Amino acid sequence: MISITLPDGNIKAFESAVSGRELALSISEGLARNSVAMELDGRLVDLDTPIRQDAAARIVTTRDPEALTVMRHSAAHVMAQAILRLYPEAKLTIGPVVEDGFYYDIDMPPVSEEDFPRIEAEIQKIVKAKLPIRRREVSKAEALDAYQGEPYKLEMIRELQDGTISLYDQGEFTDLCRGPHVPHTGFVKAVKLLKVSGAYWRADPTRAQLQRIYGTAYFDKKELDAYLTFLEEAKRRNHRKIGQALDLFSFHDEAPGMAFFHPKGMVVWNALLEYWRMEHRVAGYVETKTPIILNRALWERSGHWANYRENMYTTTIDETEYAIKPMNCPGGMLLYNRKPHSYRDLPVRAAEIGLVHRHELSGVLSGLFRVRAFHQDDAHIFMRPEQIQQEILGVLRLVERVYGTFGLGFHLELSTRPKKSIGTDAQWELATNGLRSALDAYGRDYKLNEGDGAFYGPKIDIHIKDALGRTWQCGTIQLDMSQPERFNLHYVDADNERKRPIMIHRVIYGSIERFFGILVEHFAGRFPLWLAPVQAIILPMNDELTGYADSVKARFDAAGLRTEVDSRTESLNRKVREAQLAQVPLTLTIGAKEKDGGTVAVRTLDGKVTYGVTHERFVAVVSGAIERRDIGYPGFGE
Ligand SMILES: [Zn+2]
Ligand SMILES: [Zn+2]
Repeated sequence: MISITLPDGNIKAFESAVSGRELALSISEGLARNSVAMELDGRLVDLDTPIRQDAAARIVTTRDPEALTVMRHSAAHVMAQAILRLYPEAKLTIGPVVEDGFYYDIDMPPVSEEDFPRIEAEIQKIVKAKLPIRRREVSKAEALDAYQGEPYKLEMIRELQDGTISLYDQGEFTDLCRGPHVPHTGFVKAVKLLKVSGAYWRADPTRAQLQRIYGTAYFDKKELDAYLTFLEEAKRRNHRKIGQALDLFSFHDEAPGMAFFHPKGMVVWNALLEYWRMEHRVAGYVETKTPIILNRALWERSGHWANYRENMYTTTIDETEYAIKPMNCPGGMLLYNRKPHSYRDLPVRAAEIGLVHRHELSGVLSGLFRVRAFHQDDAHIFMRPEQIQQEILGVLRLVERVYGTFGLGFHLELSTRPKKSIGTDAQWELATNGLRSALDAYGRDYKLNEGDGAFYGPKIDIHIKDALGRTWQCGTIQLDMSQPERFNLHYVDADNERKRPIMIHRVIYGSIERFFGILVEHFAGRFPLWLAPVQAIILPMNDELTGYADSVKARFDAAGLRTEVDSRTESLNRKVREAQLAQVPLTLTIGAKEKDGGTVAVRTLDGKVTYGVTHERFVAVVSGAIERRDIGYPGFGE
């Protein structure tokens, strides 16, 4: 007798070995129809795997999240099969599942997106044929024999242990694979090839250059369509493209991974920082600034020299080694230690917009999202143990105000003590309880990542959600039990004892460069008035009105607005269209009637037009929207 424990705790007994498919059938036919794999004693396996002894089993259906991963790996096999049919000389290497899809690295003549329809048509033939996908366990000798003439597979097989090798067959196609897979190729319903790029075998530039073909697959055509629409939208919002179109920033070969901000980009940058400074002033922060080049002894003391050296740029000055800071913390420690502190001085909330450099491999650099030089909106808060909850709560409220201003939702994650850590149990308990009680007092749900904290303390990570529903980790609040020790920080308590302050590092924007990129994509370049590089463009109806338009601009600019006059001899329609392409929130037209009445006609980017808006009213409405940092455009009607 074999007893199989199901997820609901029920136990099913069988006379002899059963497969997952038979187990599913014994429960219900509907379940069997939608089954794609099985979890057997915690391991994901094929549905056909025989259960030979007592076990815990769960049938994985198309609705379970892991089913998508299993099916996408099968989709990679189906794509490889289609390619071998069309390009018999192609040699397969590896084809893993990645986030949102799969790829396969194949040694073959270069293909382009124009070849995709042909490959996709072949894929569809294989899907329609519903070829059974079957696992075969083979010896190393058999595997080596089966892959004669396949150099990459042979290389992989030689590295495998005999007795652990399996092949998967579907029709005429066989792949060396651990599995699991869906029962037949018909489960790979909605599949689309996405892009192709070059890749080296084993990521080694001295070895063969391969074609890496990416695709994605869903159980449902509607889900695939939704994903493709999302991709289109993400492409339309790509910050590098918009950054170029709106003349915000650029990258140059002379400084890889380090952004150049243009005049218009700097307007947005400065507006972000001006707002940030206002919020921090209100929240009781002071601002500091520390050098970016500091000597080796300091980095040895902070531990960065031992643990972070490979990411740091270094230089020698007067025969002494220096490093360009990858983090602002050690400078912050020196500033804290510049004078003695009494318990009455705490908390100290010292913020710094610090320029840091971290070496990243050139292959991973990605626009403003992954750079080698960036500014952090750092702050170090030094406090007494009993202040932890109140301080963390203060940071959480600040985070909420700041993200709310951009219309960004967010969620929180608490990471606790990892296996490898410094500090005593009592210190960790105090620190973790401090963060936890602040989160509880804050009252929002948070996710708990047990054991995911830094070795020097627990942390709260803040993940924002943009207009496309993508999440980005920007903010973080990290409690640190290491730096106060290393830098021997003190305060004198009410009992006249010298004590160690509790310290946190926190950022809200995170990398300002990256946050800038996220905002460009979040707003699709259509910045709210307070961030827009040019808030209004003034279009005189004819040449004679140009001088007058300039005087209107002067008046608006004196009121603190950012305006431009487009006095080119182009048609009005064309100028309006170009202003809209440049994402200027407000387009103002001035004709003889407007001149006589001291008014403008206002068109907002969302297409609303209001005539006869007096200059006073225009300035008042726009200034109000800027001051409130409204996200939407204001109305100009009475
Ligand atoms: Zn495989
Ligand atoms: Zn820090």
